[in-house]
Amino acid sequence: MMMERISYQLIRSRRRTLGMEIRDGRLIVRAPLRCSGGEIERFVRAHSSWILRQMARSDLQTARAEQAGRLEETQIRELKQQAMQVIPKRVQYYAPLIGVDYGRITIRCQKTRWGSCSSKGNLSFNCLLMLAPLQVLDSVVVHELCHRKQMNHSQAFYREVYRVFPEYNKWHRWLKTNGAVLLKRVPDGRS
Ligand SMILES: [Zn+2]
Repeated sequence: MMMERISYQLIRSRRRTLGMEIRDGRLIVRAPLRCSGGEIERFVRAHSSWILRQMARSDLQTARAEQAGRLEETQIRELKQQAMQVIPKRVQYYAPLIGVDYGRITIRCQKTRWGSCSSKGNLSFNCLLMLAPLQVLDSVVVHELCHRKQMNHSQAFYREVYRVFPEYNKWHRWLKTNGAVLLKRVPDGRS
């Protein structure tokens, strides 16, 4: 096992456990506010083989995205049209199950996010969701609609998410693992 020091971005917040993720080939470690530096280092070391494996996979994703190429404007237009057909129906299906209303639905092609929900209940979704399994789309729809109840990512928020969509974690993970490849296909200059 290689024991070189792995560099990472540390984000402290009011969470209870240490966690980590690989984003764009970089390691992000999330830690509780009062977690000591030594504890964080030990945590990273204990997971080093997982981290290196994930980083290798992240490189592979970049390569795959490069191979698949940047999306062209006509492809983006088609994805948006498709999304306009599909996504509002999924929103319409889940909103009453969650017990919320919503405003406008906008479809975007973005490099950074899959969906959003404004305080007025206007929803926005990334057309790249059309390139993911339907369950992934549903997980994003449920996530954004649950923000109509909780404008945060609290336990209460996730309780609502899991109540409506028990498989949420599985498909959210899919998006974390495979979503980067899709996002990398968006041409520069779109945000
Ligand atoms: Zn959210």
